[in-house]
Amino acid sequence: MLFKVFPENALEILYDVLAPYPLVGPQAKGKDREDKDIFVFDYINSFAELRLDFPTTIHSVKKFLLPSRENLCTFNLFDGDWEKYVDFNIYKPHVFFGLHPCDINALNKLDKVLTGPVYPDPFYSSKRKNMFIIGVNCNPQSWCFCKSMGADTVYSGFDMFLTDLGDKYFVEILSATAYDILTQLPIADPSEADHRRFIELMDERNRNFVCQVDSSDLTKILDLEFQSPVWQEWGDRCMSCGSCASVCPTCYCYGVKEYVDLDLTTATKQRQLYSCNLIDFAMVAGGHNFRPDSPSRLKYRYYHKHRGFQEAYEEALCVGCGRCGQACLADITVPDVIDSVRRQKVPK
Ligand code: SF4
Ligand code: SF4
Repeated sequence: MLFKVFPENALEILYDVLAPYPLVGPQAKGKDREDKDIFVFDYINSFAELRLDFPTTIHSVKKFLLPSRENLCTFNLFDGDWEKYVDFNIYKPHVFFGLHPCDINALNKLDKVLTGPVYPDPFYSSKRKNMFIIGVNCNPQSWCFCKSMGADTVYSGFDMFLTDLGDKYFVEILSATAYDILTQLPIADPSEADHRRFIELMDERNRNFVCQVDSSDLTKILDLEFQSPVWQEWGDRCMSCGSCASVCPTCYCYGVKEYVDLDLTTATKQRQLYSCNLIDFAMVAGGHNFRPDSPSRLKYRYYHKHRGFQEAYEEALCVGCGRCGQACLADITVPDVIDSVRRQKVPK
């Protein structure tokens, strides 16, 4: 990895160099009940809109790679013949400016499934290959447990990664494209003082993590506690709304529906992201639902993320971003659920 620094006021030059491309970044949109800014990833039209000081966004950039609804193909019938049209829905390279380490790690996890040999997804892959990613370091929020999941820092899956040292940015460079772009800025090699400042900032950031999960031996514990009564208790609280999967940067389950026009000349096959917490997720032909109650569905979500995925890829399908707990109206959080499985006690 190559390291450089550039002065803080050169950030706008970096933005200007990349602005000809569709550029997605964190921006403030609306206020919450405490009158604090709500942040989302969306298209940025001016440097002033880009807010790298954001705590976390409601959704991750997953929505640009796996939109909640996406047309996979269309069919046209004409003169007794038919044709199929496939559009991968990517027209230009995109710049993603300002991803936190957990969100880049989430993309790396999705890559393992969706660009791997077993379940390759050309719609995801085509967009993923056209991403230029600029990561940015963050300040841990009270709900972030990425450190417990090993996702608080990132070593791959980005082009460049920025850390604000105060008067300058420290840049980690992973791609030749990133280096070429940075040559248009007043970059320099980091000094010994810059190294020290970077290490001090990382130590300070590490001390700011307050939320933790003990994930040691979790896969084995989940095997042991499959019949634990805690699943019933959590399931009874769950409202099966699916918000947790909707905001999760690593959930990728979907359903496919076909829509045929009334004149029977065109049809569309559409993918729709789905949540395993939704009541009909496990409904099969004939109307049988093999996970009809919310405890079994909630349990399934945890077993996929912390047991099945771990077995398949030797890592959990969770980066500890805490978004699901923040979105859940029933206050169901990953740290509380995992802790309750270990202790066999659900907090009131
Ligand atoms: S957000 Fe909460 S209530 Fe809704 S499905 Fe997820 S765990 Fe259940
Ligand atoms: S399960 Fe929750 S904490 Fe884990 S990655 Fe998904 S939203 Fe983030």
